[in-house]
Amino acid sequence: MKTMTCKQLGGACDKEFRATSFEEIAEMSKQHGMEMFQLKDEAHLNAMNKMRGLMQKPEEMKAWFENKKKEFDDLPED
Ligand SMILES: [Zn+2]
Repeated sequence: MKTMTCKQLGGACDKEFRATSFEEIAEMSKQHGMEMFQLKDEAHLNAMNKMRGLMQKPEEMKAWFENKKKEFDDLPED
């Protein structure tokens, strides 16, 4: 298992997610983001707006994703 925080995954808080694959952790952070969206948490709404801007540019989104995946892969197992 590896650990990444909401912030590390483009979010806005220090909540930790633990998973064995990047796809899994990305999904957990997405679920958390949607919860925060429903609670209208301002910090997360801002972070999501930024991500949404990124998603408009597939090349940049891909680079972001690859970058985060590498960060995940480089983390020590815990
Ligand atoms: Zn968060």
